[in-house]
This record gives sequence, structure tokens and C-alpha cells, in this order.
Amino acid sequence: MSRRRQIYEGKAKILYEGPEPGTLIQYFKDDATAFNAQKKGTISGKGVLNNRISEHVFTLLGNIGVPTHFIRRLNMREQLIRQVEIVPIEVIVRNVAAGTLSKRLGIEEGTQLPRTLIEYCYKDDALGDPLVAEEHIACFNWCSQDELHDIQDMAIRINDFMSGMFAAVGIRLVDFKLEFGRLYEGDFSRIILADEISPDGCRLWDMTTNEKLDKDRFRRDLGGEVEAYQEVARRLGLMPEGGENAVLDLDSHRKKRDK
Ligand code: 5GP
Repeated sequence: MSRRRQIYEGKAKILYEGPEPGTLIQYFKDDATAFNAQKKGTISGKGVLNNRISEHVFTLLGNIGVPTHFIRRLNMREQLIRQVEIVPIEVIVRNVAAGTLSKRLGIEEGTQLPRTLIEYCYKDDALGDPLVAEEHIACFNWCSQDELHDIQDMAIRINDFMSGMFAAVGIRLVDFKLEFGRLYEGDFSRIILADEISPDGCRLWDMTTNEKLDKDRFRRDLGGEVEAYQEVARRLGLMPEGGENAVLDLDSHRKKRDK
């Protein structure tokens, strides 16, 4: 048996060559980093939970017509995805002030923003993913104007959908990060949602207690990281009732629920 080819290793995921041309396997690690990898650690079980949560969110987004790279989950830690050319921009969507926005502009964390704010960071680890303006994106041609419009439209739709989805289970969607890629089809390409959506890249606060249910527990040394991720999975219906530690196979969970 030949060893499969690793295409890329990031901080939280590994990409392997997929079974067919144009596909990749996305493997979710337990590794956690923060502050541009200055803080490193492991959150045992995180990869399994993020694989499930991201599968769930990408499937629902696909159902409302948002094109994504997700094809199907393969096992506890892996999913089959479409190969794309990643646009080198992190798209940050904010509903409530927190994190670097609060620090940069002196706005108290938890302040509801008067409107949804979209920010862009240039994806470059060596530079620490610096904040950039639309002007920089156009000037350095990181993506075209048309592509940026598609990205903005999708980011707003994703925010509307996810805000509702989380509100329904008592979670406030404070902010989150998205990544997009170009899917080539013959001479043309279109923008689709890539990467993952999980508590690693979202701020999720309990609506009544304001408790943090996301990676800020790791970034700020609050402890209980895996319990927080499990709680998100549980509220989204991805954990068996009463089974605190196990993550059920999603398909059998759906079948049981629909009986
Ligand atoms: P902030 O700029 O306040 O640190 O982050 C804003 C939002 O984007 C947070 O939900 C945070 O989790 C997410 N985010 C920003 N940069 C990154 C990153 O490099 N990796 C991940 N996983 N999330 C990020």
C-alpha cells in the first residue's frame, strides 16, 4: 500500500491528495495555536468535534445555496473536499465588538455593532495576517472586483444564516472568520466557501450567561476548551442525549431522530 501524499500542513489541519483529481482530504488535528502561533497546545478531541461541526454548517449552507468545497465526511477526523485555489484573504465578519476590533478601536467587548462589519486580513503567517483595506486587495490583485463582490454577498448570507442557527440554540454569533477559494471549471473559475467553520474560527457566547464557547477559552487560558466545543456540538444536535463524551455518527443520529 502506498502512503498518501500530503499537500499541505497548517496549524489545525492537514490536506492530503484526494481519491480523484480535483479532490482533497481535509484532516482535522487536535493542535491549537493562538497569537500567530506564539501560543501552542493540544485540545484533545477538538479535531473530531470541528470535523462534525464544520460538516453540519457547510451542509446547511449548501442547502441554502451557498457553494462550498465540502463533499462529504469520510470518518471521525477527515472530510472529502473540492480542491480550490485559496484567495489569500481572511474575511472577518463581526456583529458584536470583541478581540482585535475592541483592542484597536477601544470599544468595550460585548458592544453590539450598529451594523455588520466585514474586515479583511492578508493571509501571511510571517506578517501575522495584517488587516488590509479593499484598496489593498484591488491594488495587489489578491482577487478581482467581481470576486470580492461574490465574497461579500456570501459573507452576509452566511452571517444571516449562522446568526439565526446559533440564536435558535441560545448562542450569540459574535464574529467569525471565513476563507474562500477559486474552483476552476474549464476556462472559468468561481468563488466557493473553503476551509472550515468551527469554534476555532468563531466567537460563540452563551446568550444568557455570556460564557465563551470557542477558542477564546484556549487563547485566554480559561480552561474547559473541549467541554465548550462539545456544548456547541450538543446544542446543534450533533451529540447523543446523555452521552457527554461520545460524538455519534451524524447519519445514525439523524436516522434515530427522524424515526
Ligand atoms: P480577532 O481579529 O478579533 O482576533 O478575530 C476575529 C474572529 O476571526 C474570531 O472569531 C477569530 O476566531 C477569527 N479569526 C481571526 N483570525 C483567525 C485565524 O488566523 N485563525 C482562526 N481559526 N480564526 C481566526
